[in-house]
Amino acid sequence: MPTLEALPGRVSDLAGLPILRLLPRSQRRLVGPWCFLDSYGPLGFGSGKPMDVAPHPHIGLQTVSWLLEGEVRHHDSLGLTGLARPGGLNLMTAGRGIAHSEETPAENAGRLWGVQLWVALPAAARESEPAFEHHATVPSLELEGGLASVILGRLAGVTAPGRIYSPLVGAELRARSAGRLAVPLERGFEHALVLLEGECWLDGQKLVGDTLYYLGSGRGDLVLAAERAGLRALLLGGAPFEETILMWWNFVARTSDEIAAAREDWQAGRRFGEVRAYAGPRLAAPPLLGRPATAR
Ligand code: MN
Repeated sequence: MPTLEALPGRVSDLAGLPILRLLPRSQRRLVGPWCFLDSYGPLGFGSGKPMDVAPHPHIGLQTVSWLLEGEVRHHDSLGLTGLARPGGLNLMTAGRGIAHSEETPAENAGRLWGVQLWVALPAAARESEPAFEHHATVPSLELEGGLASVILGRLAGVTAPGRIYSPLVGAELRARSAGRLAVPLERGFEHALVLLEGECWLDGQKLVGDTLYYLGSGRGDLVLAAERAGLRALLLGGAPFEETILMWWNFVARTSDEIAAAREDWQAGRRFGEVRAYAGPRLAAPPLLGRPATAR
């Protein structure tokens, strides 16, 4: 059913970089298979590396890096690298296990603004071989009143190149001017919207930044009224994910034994390989206390 629920993000930090955690939240852990969303920036810097996340492991998910400003360099334990820049996509499929680092490169614009997302892999794909894809561009779609960049999945017949494992959409929407911005939606998907820049109205309600708006399912379109030109928003959606998952640290799993085994393998230097291109020590796993959170 269509709904409009405002879930304010929670301020946190990622290795010293201030971030806003928009998913998971206690009230909502999944939007389709999307299980994690951090936003960071916009920020300017004169020197240094605002993002410097040392090698760490993942299982059972895909990571999606999408930038609005600046650059992030990915290195992984497959020996692959990719420079994420505005308009392009870094997509990593962890499958049964991969390690990666993400950092501001030495040559940079002195700006950083972006989002980091995770997609839960369905049971059939979660033990798959790890993989990394870099796409310098993604397809765009003309909208009534604006434009969409189709980051992942499919929007109104436009399909992004990144490999996916369940039906979903991730798109950045931009309004050309103040007023109506209309986006065709897949009625069977549930959706969520996050404003990245500007404010707008939806269903008679004012939408603001730093908030995840859960839209429910059953919407054939999304009609936003932008307050002024320059509105940018992130649209997420997908078929409701019917599997119950556990999330702990950087892992998406089904059982706590699986999480404990992944943690032990990382600590012992097994399974995930080395990120040789990263200069510096890798991250240690936090202690495993209590039960990992269930998401459904
Ligand atoms: Mn990561």
